[in-house]
Amino acid sequence: MEKLNIILYPFQVPFLASSQIYWVYILSAIFIATLIYVFGRGNQERDKNLLQYLLPKEVYLHRSSITQYKYFFPICLFEIIFLVPTTIYLANIAEITDKTLTEITGITAPFAITIPQLWQNILFTFFIGLLADFANFLYHYLSHKIPVLWEFHKVHHSAEVITPLTVYRTHPVELFFGTITIVSVAVFGTGIGMYLFGTEMKQLLIYGVSFERFIFYLAGYNLRHSHIWLAYPQWISHVLISPAQHQIHHSVEPKHYDKNFGYILGFWDWMFGSLYVPTSYEKLNFGLADGESNLFNSVPNIFLQPFRAIWQRISQISV
Ligand SMILES: [Zn+2]
Ligand SMILES: [Zn+2]
Repeated sequence: MEKLNIILYPFQVPFLASSQIYWVYILSAIFIATLIYVFGRGNQERDKNLLQYLLPKEVYLHRSSITQYKYFFPICLFEIIFLVPTTIYLANIAEITDKTLTEITGITAPFAITIPQLWQNILFTFFIGLLADFANFLYHYLSHKIPVLWEFHKVHHSAEVITPLTVYRTHPVELFFGTITIVSVAVFGTGIGMYLFGTEMKQLLIYGVSFERFIFYLAGYNLRHSHIWLAYPQWISHVLISPAQHQIHHSVEPKHYDKNFGYILGFWDWMFGSLYVPTSYEKLNFGLADGESNLFNSVPNIFLQPFRAIWQRISQISV
């Protein structure tokens, strides 16, 4: 890849439908936030005008946000140099899975569908989406439970205020292994689908994004990393993770620890006993407990702190 393309990549991210901060998703989040403001729900203070409500200075000019803006560039460069080529390579897993299953069983496409109907492709897309969402949940769950993974995941939780860019506040090690895990599981599922039903079954894509994910991003995804409270009715919150539920995941309050690991679906948390459904608005403080967020107060510290902490853990064990 040309050097210029690599350097320009961070500026292209807001125009890529595969990125969570695609301008269309941001616009839809602003639209939903405006509706929340107009219809008087949520946590807005009455004396604020719409602009102050949408973009409060105390959030967007907070030192934690400033660090996040700076961190966006190096993490995007990491993504384009290391992650994008790896995920393209991982696409081969589908074919390998299909071929291996065919060789083992000696049968090609036992339930072959030569001309798939729309509903069959929709089901297939949902099946892959379900697998990917579970892999996402599991990786996130383990990131909180396994000390080494937690040291890297702390980067995301060190945000003291959350904005749509917080999704890019992820350590390269976590971004790399997390993405590889989720993509591998999804592509493996695609391979199983190819084996069972033949290669005509296709995932439904909108601008290269699977349609269920596109809808999920469009339905206010970016509010989850924002100061704007949007909770779903109780029963929906057991099935889909609301923006408020992810904000609770970022809360420093002990009763909120290790809750709501889900990405799209809430019922993984329900099954694993980690679901937290707020019954009313809760004022939240974000970050790590005991002021630990301070250890991640600059771009170099975001990169280095997990390694320092892991080294500390190792030296404590060996003493
Ligand atoms: Zn987390
Ligand atoms: Zn988050």
